[in-house]
Amino acid sequence: MPATILPNSTIGVFGSGQLGRMFAIEARKMGYRVHTFSPDADTPAGHISDVETAASYGDLDAVREFARAVDVVTFEFENVPAATVEAAAEFVAVHPKGQVLHTTQNRLQEKTFLSSNGFPVAPFHHIKTLDDLHRGVLDLGTPAVLKTAGFGYDGKGQRKIGAVGEVDEAFVGLEGRDAILEGFIDFEKEVSVVCARGQDGSFANYGVIENEHRNHILDVSFAPADVSEAVFIEAVEITRSIAEQFGYVGTMCVEFFLTGSGKLLVNEIAPRPHNSGHLTFGPCVSSQFEQQVRAVCGLPLGSTEFFRPAAMANLLGDIWSAGEPDWAAALAVPGVSLHLYGKVEPRPGRKMGHLTATGARVTEAVSLVRNARELCDSTKPREPREE
Ligand code: AMP
Repeated sequence: MPATILPNSTIGVFGSGQLGRMFAIEARKMGYRVHTFSPDADTPAGHISDVETAASYGDLDAVREFARAVDVVTFEFENVPAATVEAAAEFVAVHPKGQVLHTTQNRLQEKTFLSSNGFPVAPFHHIKTLDDLHRGVLDLGTPAVLKTAGFGYDGKGQRKIGAVGEVDEAFVGLEGRDAILEGFIDFEKEVSVVCARGQDGSFANYGVIENEHRNHILDVSFAPADVSEAVFIEAVEITRSIAEQFGYVGTMCVEFFLTGSGKLLVNEIAPRPHNSGHLTFGPCVSSQFEQQVRAVCGLPLGSTEFFRPAAMANLLGDIWSAGEPDWAAALAVPGVSLHLYGKVEPRPGRKMGHLTATGARVTEAVSLVRNARELCDSTKPREPREE
């Protein structure tokens, strides 16, 4: 029987960004206390937490002290070192388990896990030497995508190799890091499935979400995705089966490429709530963050039902570059909600918040959320408003 951690208990979270913040909001709503651990202070998750520990992940004494004070531990950030997870696990249950983090925090291990278990992925090669890269490009052709094995997200540590002549320079750019070379997928769209798996093996999912990226960063997501029933069923089944293989407990997201011929390829697994699932926070009965709380505490999963079709637009620091965004203009758009993460410095490319919108149809939700973002963007010309 799973150990149930009841409200009024304390949940520990590694990582302190916006995912931890929204998790903490949901945990507090349900009467839990939240302690966060990350190298930083005054963080998005720390603002909502009862206790914020600012210490390095390598400071295992601090990790043990943190773990002793909580009833269960989870993550909002997958690049927590294995030793940190093991130190916490000496005292308290950790969900999802360290092995899952170990696999998903390294692209080579993740791709190897996926392909050896029969899940569809883009063709790839492990790159350690310049020779490997030359052979890889010869085999996969150009363009191809070179990605560092560790610490990659939002296109970080990634470059496209457009021609054989770029191979030497691309290899130098790796600065000795392990990498993978992937065949370039000429996809029609990118989609994701956000799911939750409980300690009793129960499974819940939000169906297929469609994602549009800009400069490798998620820009707009909407659900339901415009995909065929066969694609829908296959995407959910692949996700369920990955969660099962991992013995997963918590919220997880699988990102896919969908080709023009209807073939799904897994691009990445996020062992945590995901940016594309932000549109579940408000528009759904139970958000992806509430599911994480329920799963790690051994409670039944909630309903993933959408009240209405939903869309989400990220708010990057760029829209602050000509001043504070016009929040009143965005919030005047019907059906729109504002989420800001409490970050003070709006750097270009930095995720500062997001907008969600619901509509009678998904196309309406998308146009409302885009319109709201356009209206608040400080770099766009503004209509003079009546005083
Ligand atoms: P990633 O950091 O692996 O999630 O990649 C970020 C984005 O780069 C993806 O969402 C895609 O838009 C693009 N991308 C990554 N890998 C490939 C690939 N093999 N073929 C085409 N586009 C890719």
